[in-house]
Amino acid sequence: MYQKFINGDWISTGDTTEVIDPATGQQVDKVVLGTVEDVNRAVEAAQQAVRIRKWRENGVLRAEFLWCWADRIKQDRHRLATLLTRENGKVMAEAEREILATVDTLKFAAGQARQLEGRSLTLGSGMYGEVIPEPLGVVGFIIPWNWPVLLLVRELAPALAAGNSAIIKPALLAPLTVLEICRDLPDTVVVPRGLIHVIPGEGVPIGEAIVSHRHVAAVSFTGSTQTGQRIGELAARGIKKVLLELGGKSSSIIFPDAPLERMIPVLVQGMYGSSGQNCMAASRILVHDAIYNAVRDKLVETIASLRVGPGLAADTTMGPLITEHQVAVSQEAVNAGVRDGGRVLIGGQRMTGGVLKDGFFFAPTLIENVPCTSSMVQHEIFGPVVSLERFQDEDAAITFANSTAYGLVSSVWTRDHDRAVRVARQLETGTVWINTYQKTFAEAESGGMKSSGLGRSRGKAGLYEYTELKNVVSEVL
Ligand code: NAD
Repeated sequence: MYQKFINGDWISTGDTTEVIDPATGQQVDKVVLGTVEDVNRAVEAAQQAVRIRKWRENGVLRAEFLWCWADRIKQDRHRLATLLTRENGKVMAEAEREILATVDTLKFAAGQARQLEGRSLTLGSGMYGEVIPEPLGVVGFIIPWNWPVLLLVRELAPALAAGNSAIIKPALLAPLTVLEICRDLPDTVVVPRGLIHVIPGEGVPIGEAIVSHRHVAAVSFTGSTQTGQRIGELAARGIKKVLLELGGKSSSIIFPDAPLERMIPVLVQGMYGSSGQNCMAASRILVHDAIYNAVRDKLVETIASLRVGPGLAADTTMGPLITEHQVAVSQEAVNAGVRDGGRVLIGGQRMTGGVLKDGFFFAPTLIENVPCTSSMVQHEIFGPVVSLERFQDEDAAITFANSTAYGLVSSVWTRDHDRAVRVARQLETGTVWINTYQKTFAEAESGGMKSSGLGRSRGKAGLYEYTELKNVVSEVL
């Protein structure tokens, strides 16, 4: 049974909930649920921790802590990846990538911990100013289940690098690997006791208790746009900073001179990686009329070669969905697309044969001819259901791509670099990939435009999001 982690103690008292393996429907383990009293206790301890000058003013200590933590996770990566696959369903190769990207993110943040820079100003004769980045204080981290470890650490690592303390609420569908990495905090580096707390629980009451607590200075939320709106409203009442990494509906625009051979496998991975349960999933494929049929046929052929199965099986290339509910959501999206005139090219239904019988499997699905106004095209599905669309010219492709409320990522496929850059500059997304997909780097800022979010993760901006600037002015005789 997995315990909650509050003020340096692992606590086993309280109600529990089961974590289910989506490939088998069987219990992986149980987890102890937090309470609102736990949140209050954790925030108090985190507030004391963040006031300790040895932590907030010592970048070397913070760097060492982050680096040692990265090393411990790396050593344990195979066990962690296996647990992640069991609770989340993703294929082992992806789970391993997630753990290694987590290690990389911690190491990058370790470097950043020693690089926080302010400014010194001369404001007049004998009048000097400093602008100093300081930690925000206690930060609440509310995270989803789809890439739980990386998405936590993507935010937590820069926040710790900047000297903050943390209250973490993992998603109940996949909280175990997050708890496991927090069991493995480095014990060779002495940091304040109440620096990090992990409180598993539902959004209501635990998530909302964190967001609404008056001593939580900022909230970093990764999850759906709908929940993000609610968190934004609650945070506004407390005049607190909120960072939102939300949903997506991402277009990939394919021109006649696209490098097809290389593109097809990369794109299919972007479409069905994490079984489409990825904020960055390539959920809309927009193809120029001149090569539409060729791209369609090649996509269908490649999708047919995917092997759907349990993530732990060596030959599986696409795992299950997280819940029965997500299967129903995918089916309803297919039905809506068909009702609006779509034609299913491949997939379109649940899979239940053989070893799939007790799990939540849905066939990788491609649907053509769905109008841009259909809910299937406009809304995030978070399942392996992709629309194939046709365009006649560059302007139409840009208009179609920009037509949803989301603005997370997009991709452009062409050998004409002028065209690629011109289109990239007009796409309303926080990230645009040219002739590649889902390449993210600790060095490079990412985040959402429009309803896909507020603020930036990663890179320099991702560090400074977790600081507040203080202006100190001195008059010197
Ligand atoms: P979700 O919004 O249902 O839940 C996310 C987290 O918020 C969970 O921990 C949940 O318990 C908590 N929560 C729910 N209601 C809450 C409330 N009222 N107050 C406080 N916390 C609350 O999302 P999900 O189903 O876990 O994740 C899928 C969504 O996350 C998709 O929309 C996906 O696109 C998005 N996502 C975005 C990114 C990104 O970087 N932009 C990354 C991954 C996932």
